[in-house]
Amino acid sequence: MTDSHAHLLDAAFDGDRDEVMARARQAGVLAHIEAAVDMDTSRRAQAWCAGASDRWAAVGVHPHAAGEVAESDWAELERLASRPDVVAVGEIGLDYHDDGASRAVQQEVFRRQLLMARRLGKPVILHVREADDDVFAAVNAVGGLSGVFHCFTGDVARARRALDTGFYVSFSGILTFPKAEELREAASFCPLDRVLVETDAPYLAPVPLRGRRNEPAHVQLTLARLASLRGLAAPELALRLEENLHRLFDFPMAVF
Ligand SMILES: [Zn+2]
Repeated sequence: MTDSHAHLLDAAFDGDRDEVMARARQAGVLAHIEAAVDMDTSRRAQAWCAGASDRWAAVGVHPHAAGEVAESDWAELERLASRPDVVAVGEIGLDYHDDGASRAVQQEVFRRQLLMARRLGKPVILHVREADDDVFAAVNAVGGLSGVFHCFTGDVARARRALDTGFYVSFSGILTFPKAEELREAASFCPLDRVLVETDAPYLAPVPLRGRRNEPAHVQLTLARLASLRGLAAPELALRLEENLHRLFDFPMAVF
């Protein structure tokens, strides 16, 4: 299966990236999507994933980095995003929890990336924190987009709103946290053909590894929890989720 969202280029993996990749393979996690957060990680994600069969790049500017984008970066970002080996624009979005960049700057950088994704016909990977109304408004205003709400949190009503955009919903290790009862209800509610799982490594390690550095192999713990919620065997669910990834990101399903 595939971890639909990880940051293995993060410095947290500088000492043992190859071992982390090997442990993922041993755990049956044969690929991941490497999500960029700024111009630097966009360049590095594209270069690291080009020609590889066990990772796929997403390029984009996270709301935290929205204030750092220079006008001259836009042409380069679009050139990177248009490459056939880049499967998505992300992670992008709005984050009103820690206001790194002003809301106006975040909104402008987000809107330009949504328009870019639509021009290129690529899905978007959305980071949304305390900004639902503005995110839904921007996605609906641009229109014609596909994508995923990465690291989804919230209840059934929020999941319904996300699904109503036609987007997918991706569950992280938070699904295994003791207090995440509402989120588990949402995960039970979502149609199975609109669901993904991810680690968001190095963040959000699932129980019983919570608090430790996360890595793609651990997506199996989140998959297992979702499988028990849905009354399915984990391998059967993994197959269904892999089909979803293939449909959304348009990459070859050679990885199982
Ligand atoms: Zn992320």
